[in-house]
Amino acid sequence: SAIGAFVNEKLTDFGNETNANEMRSAIKLIKSRQGEKYPLHIGDEVIYTDDMTVSVDPANPTQVVGYVSKASRDLAEKAMEASLLAFEKWKRTPVEERAVCLFKAASLIRDKKHEYSAWMILESGKNWTEADADTAEAIDFLEYYGREMLRLNRTNETNPLTRLTGEVNWLDYIPLGVGIVIPPWNFPLAICAGMTSAAVVAGNSVVLKPASTTPIIAYRFYETMIEAGIPPGVIQYLPGSGAEIGDYLTSHPKTRFISFTGSKEVGLRINRLAAETAEGQIWIKRVIAEMGGKDGTVVDETADLDMAAEAIVSAAFGFQGQKCSAGSRAIIVESVYDEMLAKIAELTAKLSLGQPTENKAIGPVIDESSYERILSYIERGKGKNRLLFGGGKGAGEGYFIEPTAFADVNPDSELMQEEIFGPVLAIAKATDWKEAIRIYNDTEFGLTGSYFSHDEDRIEAALRDMHCGNLYVNRKCTGALVGVHPFGGFNMSGTDSKAGGHDYLLLFTQAKLMSRKE
Ligand code: GLU
Repeated sequence: SAIGAFVNEKLTDFGNETNANEMRSAIKLIKSRQGEKYPLHIGDEVIYTDDMTVSVDPANPTQVVGYVSKASRDLAEKAMEASLLAFEKWKRTPVEERAVCLFKAASLIRDKKHEYSAWMILESGKNWTEADADTAEAIDFLEYYGREMLRLNRTNETNPLTRLTGEVNWLDYIPLGVGIVIPPWNFPLAICAGMTSAAVVAGNSVVLKPASTTPIIAYRFYETMIEAGIPPGVIQYLPGSGAEIGDYLTSHPKTRFISFTGSKEVGLRINRLAAETAEGQIWIKRVIAEMGGKDGTVVDETADLDMAAEAIVSAAFGFQGQKCSAGSRAIIVESVYDEMLAKIAELTAKLSLGQPTENKAIGPVIDESSYERILSYIERGKGKNRLLFGGGKGAGEGYFIEPTAFADVNPDSELMQEEIFGPVLAIAKATDWKEAIRIYNDTEFGLTGSYFSHDEDRIEAALRDMHCGNLYVNRKCTGALVGVHPFGGFNMSGTDSKAGGHDYLLLFTQAKLMSRKE
């Protein structure tokens, strides 16, 4: 059947009682399925290990969401062999057949949208709105990359090579081989689906090593892909520790590429390990790494201050600031500084903290080590900066932290330089808009940024000078949409892979030129 143009999946309006009730029932259903055991999948084998990871609800850490098998090095080797075997057949599977699996997976997710979201609500601490956006983005990636592969396959018609009399010339985008896919926990469905499906639709086989705090939602995705027709062996579901299997797979001579989204530290480690040539390796491994951010919003005195304050609060505290796109810095010019601080404080005071299952604005952070790390940044920050609001633990058993902001923060301080990945906003004062842009650029990262202004000349300067992969004017710096805002950053933010854009699939292919005498 004909495939329509790509359109973004609609977000759910939970102000509508029918939708809200559907979400409540989905949460109830998923709660009844908590505590199950999950196997690894290698080829067509289903393997339960003795050693299991316990996945818990970060809002109620004594509540087990499920027990997940954990791969050893031997099983990682087995997964590599299964991937190599499946690749031989999958790479010859027609592009159309591969794309159809993605469209089918998108429609399976769409049919039970709130169930997928409910797994995220329980396993990652997203509220309804954040989880719904994550599910919608997963659907978008599947629909988008399916179409993109079909488009790439038509390159010789749409973007023909220069004609040379007496020859026929054409270019094919062929797959690379076996890839290791290491997605993050913060978009446990969307980014897992995007990274995996892009690699697979391009004809590669992959070892999917899900994030250790969100393996069950990744399992739901794996299961969906199999139901959608992806042959077993094209994706191995292989949870395990980075030290035990991550390094092993990254260093493996048969690994052709590693696609990673996560912290700068882990990304750089992968890049370094991948650069070594293992015995028997016959290629340069490709590393696609999307890492951290220290993203920020710049506000000048001509801006709509209410709009700017809303964008700052939502980008800083949405999903507790646990997005690599999170606006963890705000840089505001002196003349509107105090007014902006008041607005930011007032808006944040309205955000209620509590259970994601009840759709509270602010939920828990992902796990105990994040919780401790974020709180220690806050404690150190208190010694050196003016605490504007927050600054403590939130009530409840879970890993709750109050949305916190520091004012008058020095641009060199750790609050302005290091990615905290939590609900902590650092606000700096600039004498004017030019200084504000300089402060914005004073970071090793370069993922997202926003500029709020009504002055056309300054906007033009900001568009030219703010150095980041995703730059927004008069809107928040989170919430990139597939197809609309291809996503990826500069400098220590990664390889600028531009997920959800026309260039993304090229990263998972190699172009073969073929030329034949007529
Ligand atoms: N694409 C997401 C956004 O624009 C962020 C992805 C991430 O945090 O890795 O908000």
